[in-house]
Amino acid sequence: MEFYRQMEHLRRNYNIVPIEDIVEFAAGKRRLPEKAVAITFDDGYGDNYSRVYPYLKSHGLPATIFICTGYVGRQLLLGGYYLNMLNWNQIVEMSRNNATVGAHTETHSDLCKEAHERARENIKISKEEIERRTGKPVKYFSYPFYRFDHETIELVRLLGFEGAFGGSSGVVRQGDLTLALNRIQVDRSVSFLMFRARMTRAGLRYIEARRRLRASRRFRFMSAVYAKCEAIVRIHGGT
Ligand SMILES: [Zn+2]
Repeated sequence: MEFYRQMEHLRRNYNIVPIEDIVEFAAGKRRLPEKAVAITFDDGYGDNYSRVYPYLKSHGLPATIFICTGYVGRQLLLGGYYLNMLNWNQIVEMSRNNATVGAHTETHSDLCKEAHERARENIKISKEEIERRTGKPVKYFSYPFYRFDHETIELVRLLGFEGAFGGSSGVVRQGDLTLALNRIQVDRSVSFLMFRARMTRAGLRYIEARRRLRASRRFRFMSAVYAKCEAIVRIHGGT
């Protein structure tokens, strides 16, 4: 399966670090080893527990799962198939082992389109529910649909998050805004060869150049964030 090939490639050729190391690096509080990578999964799909977790656990590797709390324990219709989402027992078990649990809102709405107070509640409810269930503080957030603006960044900051992630392809560099960090997105359409190519320096330079061009057209403030980078955060799964 493609996922295991990708993970083996990362495990053998990169330094897989916890997400806090990446955020602290961006904030200028920590150095990172060469080719540092943190692994993140959005939404809370059931295969995070059935496939990803056993692999991570057997190799003692850290990863982060960003949970949309309104999806927990449900089945979602996606592309004509019903997919099982994680339940709380699985999430709590993962949080006690190798996984950091982050928030991904309650309803998976586009925060940029929601009224300010509703967006605030959407983020806050997911953070508090994960904290109540796992008994651990939730410090990291992932923006649904990778969309954020000045206002949502400010909401996330006021709610006490230390790091937040979009999905715009790119690496993380020292000095990056910790509440608008890049990731490299890897979904099922990405072949192993494409994946391996993306993770090379040349591949990353290409990804960043392409994204900077788009960002400069759409969000001027983000291009400054995107201009610097070094460590890598990888995402696997849906939006
Ligand atoms: Zn999502």
